[in-house]
Amino acid sequence: MLFTTSWDDGYGLDLTVAALLKKNGLTGTFYVCPTHQHDRTMLTENQIRTLSGDFEIGAHTLTHRKLSTLMAGEAEQEIKGSKAWVEQVTGKPCDMFCYPKGDCGIAAQTFVKQAGYRGARTTEQWRCEFSNPFAMPVSLQIMPFPLRRSFRPIWKILDPLGPLRANWRGLGKNNIPLSARTSWLAMARAFFRNALKRNAPFFHLYGHSHEIERYGLWHDLAEFLEEAGHSGVTPVTNGSLASKHA
Ligand SMILES: [Zn+2]
Repeated sequence: MLFTTSWDDGYGLDLTVAALLKKNGLTGTFYVCPTHQHDRTMLTENQIRTLSGDFEIGAHTLTHRKLSTLMAGEAEQEIKGSKAWVEQVTGKPCDMFCYPKGDCGIAAQTFVKQAGYRGARTTEQWRCEFSNPFAMPVSLQIMPFPLRRSFRPIWKILDPLGPLRANWRGLGKNNIPLSARTSWLAMARAFFRNALKRNAPFFHLYGHSHEIERYGLWHDLAEFLEEAGHSGVTPVTNGSLASKHA
C-alpha cells in the first residue's frame, strides 16, 4: 500500500511535522501559500526552500480564497501565480495543487490542468482510492475526535458531537468498530489497519500543523506515524501518487 501525507497552508510548525515524517522514513507534500492565516507564524521562503530538499512542495493559491467565489480570470491567476511563486522559491517544478477549503469545481479543475499541474488534492475524506488525479481525495484528517473542541460560532455550541456526526458514514463504510470511535488515534489506527489488511491502493493522512498544536494532537500524530512507518507501506509524495494513478 502506498502511504502519503499532506500539510496545508505553510505554517511554521510544519517543520515539526517534517521532522516526525523524516524520523519514521515517511514523506509527503506541503501545500504552501504566501498569505498569513490564523495569526500564525508561517514558513519563511528560506524554510520552504530547505523543506523542498526532502519533501514535495505544492501550491495552494496566493490568497487562500475559495476559487468558486472568484471571477474566472482571478481564479486562473491564483492557480497559475501560485505555481510560479512555489517554483521561484524552491527552484524546482511545482506539480501539485491543493484547493483552498476543498473547493474543486469543474472550472477550477480545468484551470489546474491548463496551468500544467500533474494533480490536485481536495478535502474529501475516508477514501483509499481515486480515479481523477485533479480531484484527489484523502483518507483522514488529523482533528479532534469524537468531541468538538472549538465552539466559536453559536451553532457549534449546540453540536458538540459534530466531528462524530460528520464522520458517521465513513466510519460505518470502513467498518470502524464502536470501540475505536473513542479517540482520533484509535479511529486512525483502525482505519489504517483495515486499509493495510485489504491492500487498499493508498492511505492519505492530511492536516494543519497549527491545529495539531492548538488541540494538543502531537502525541497522537507521533504514535500514528510511528506505526505507519513500521508497517511496510511504500511512502510517496502526493505528486508521485497522482502520477501512479493517472
Ligand atoms: Zn488551506
